[in-house]
Amino acid sequence: MMIVLILAAAIWGLGVVMKTPTQARFLMLALLYVAVLFVQFALPDGHPLRESLGGSPGQWLVFGGMVAAILAYRQVLGKVRARAQAVEAARAAETPATPEGPFSDVELERYARHIVLREVGGPGQKRLKDARVLVVGAGGLGAPVLLYLGAAGVGTIGVIDDDTVSLSNLQRQIVHTDARSGQPKVFSAEAGVRAINPHVTLRPYHRRLTEAIAPELFADYDLIVDGSDSFETRQIVNAAAVATGTPLIAGAITQWEGQVTLYDPARGAPCLTCLFPEAPAAGLAPSCAEAGVIGALPGVVGAIMALETIKEITGAGTGLRGTMLLWDGLDADARRIRIARRPDCPTCGLA
Ligand SMILES: [Zn+2]
Repeated sequence: MMIVLILAAAIWGLGVVMKTPTQARFLMLALLYVAVLFVQFALPDGHPLRESLGGSPGQWLVFGGMVAAILAYRQVLGKVRARAQAVEAARAAETPATPEGPFSDVELERYARHIVLREVGGPGQKRLKDARVLVVGAGGLGAPVLLYLGAAGVGTIGVIDDDTVSLSNLQRQIVHTDARSGQPKVFSAEAGVRAINPHVTLRPYHRRLTEAIAPELFADYDLIVDGSDSFETRQIVNAAAVATGTPLIAGAITQWEGQVTLYDPARGAPCLTCLFPEAPAAGLAPSCAEAGVIGALPGVVGAIMALETIKEITGAGTGLRGTMLLWDGLDADARRIRIARRPDCPTCGLA
């Protein structure tokens, strides 16, 4: 036994002197161990070499087992430690040492995935916090818009709708819940957004948007997002947005198709009236109740509206000024068409 230990120490010492890698030294020790076991198993009882190494393989097997257990334990410990360090490093990378704006620690953690984005970062997140967005309609499109804007940390979110939650809404209007059926949609939406992010301010307006109140209401907001479902309301929204010079992100859906654009005549883009001077003839633009709508479609189109809103606030990427995005859900096809202002537009025209 002593001979083997001395031999092992010699191998290790020689390795240290020759600066061989630790792994190679361990390999030599392993070979020595295998050689000792070989002697124990291969040589007959009473052989002098076998006697000098203990005489039986039992103690060597126990010794080998103990070493293997210690090595395995060290390996597991190392892995756990490395994992803990990786998590810590990831947290440190996500949370800049000098964050922009007055964010609390929980807000920094909440918006960490935004803050690491080059196009958003701390300044972009601060702009989201300072932004005031009015969402018209808390229905199919309004639901994902409200949820994503709330989750993204848009500081002040107004929502106007005079409707109440009904069972047939729940197939697509995911900000509402079965338990909130019968409640005004704006209060149900407020509860839905608050459940995701209590750090944003919700302003629910449980009333119909009218020509009389729209301009004054819009003046309180930086950006309007229109997810209403009637052409009449869209016209009111458009006129007030033009009158107040507020950019308007508008989405519309029917059955399997949707469209999104950014109306903004104050910055060169057309307004709704430039594209659709008159209300569609009765029967040509049936409502969702009449024509049906696939449940996930407002999810797609509403999420695009929320994304365009976040881009507009943070200045990230290229928005939809002067273009309209058309989404065909039935054929999984998307395309963009150019749209232009009409100089003789009765709503935004110069004349
Ligand atoms: Zn116009």
